[in-house]
Amino acid sequence: MTQQDAPPPKINRNLKKLIPYQPGRPIEEVQREFGLEQVHKLASNENPLGPSPQAVKAMLAAAGEMHRYPDGDGYYLKQALAERLGVAPEELILGNGSDEIMVLLALAYLSRLRFLITSDHAFVRYRMGAELAGAPAYLSPMRDMRHNLEDIVAAIGPRTSMICLDVPCNPTGASISRRELSRFLERVPPLVIVVLDQAYYEYANADRNYPDGLRLRDEHPNLVVLRTFSKAYGLAGLRIGYAVARPEIIKDLDRVRPPFNANRMAQAAALAALGDEAHLRGSVKANAEGLARMQKGLRALGLKTWPSLANFVLVDVGLDCRVVFQELLKLGVVTRPMAGYGIETCLRISIGRPAENRACLAALAKVLKELARGD
Ligand SMILES: *Cc1c(COP(=O)(O)O)cnc(C)c1O
Repeated sequence: MTQQDAPPPKINRNLKKLIPYQPGRPIEEVQREFGLEQVHKLASNENPLGPSPQAVKAMLAAAGEMHRYPDGDGYYLKQALAERLGVAPEELILGNGSDEIMVLLALAYLSRLRFLITSDHAFVRYRMGAELAGAPAYLSPMRDMRHNLEDIVAAIGPRTSMICLDVPCNPTGASISRRELSRFLERVPPLVIVVLDQAYYEYANADRNYPDGLRLRDEHPNLVVLRTFSKAYGLAGLRIGYAVARPEIIKDLDRVRPPFNANRMAQAAALAALGDEAHLRGSVKANAEGLARMQKGLRALGLKTWPSLANFVLVDVGLDCRVVFQELLKLGVVTRPMAGYGIETCLRISIGRPAENRACLAALAKVLKELARGD
């Protein structure tokens, strides 16, 4: 019997619908396909300034230790985070990216009879977690690209186990205010876990009304706060994130966690990155300037954008986003088409270095003009 004749194995029923996450394309691929000298990758919300030089130094120093397994408990990184955040080490869990912690949460708290609530345009990984756990998910329709907290509260039922909110939301950029979040949490029953995904916390925190999930956890022990080193800290390639929650929740997640999920190099780099405040401050400042220019430039092209507290902006290009995405690609600008999120005419554009942002705006102007002419 050849491989073709043999019947394929049967995957778990609840996984059949699951479509694998589609990451942005590698720069080298795009370069080769279109014969481009330069490619600007504004597709994955990465820090365009790169990692902290101190993190790079720590990685080089750690390289000679790679025959050793990581510290499975992340002792030093947890100590440093605990001190920085004003929490106990027992309230922390590290993940292979905060993405992995999302999967641990789904496996620990969702099932066929324990439902998820999130928003229809929220980060797709939440609903994928529900699918992984075979759990039904209610996708609350966002209002003008904002989480509709009224609708979410109204959707809570006896089987609701978890609510996931990204604040700011990826891909819409929208935040919710401190007051909105507090009022919302007061209306959520204590047995329902609320995951507040603050992947863009360091960028958003400059805003006066931006909520700090950690301040709310005494009053709301059902709160889980997710943060990451992938965005403002510029360590996306290493995969390191963390969650803060009450110790009982951390213990539940530890049951599902693979023992060495946060790798040795990532722990060393994250620890060093935490100590480099200048790099963080510089990254946040550069992003704020780039974001303002990008939004102004997009509006000057007559396009609708939404307010963003993150390092990207959602823009309505008024045409099939896949077509605009493809034309931008040919000019060496990689963006993220939002068709997969059900927002057919929108692109998500990450903020790059000033020259990259200018190149993106110029390419977009050219593409839209040509498409309008029907070229
Ligand atoms: C980028 C992002 C994450 C996380 O990423 P990791 O790299 O897995 O830490 C989590 N949530 C949202 C909303 C994001 O945009």
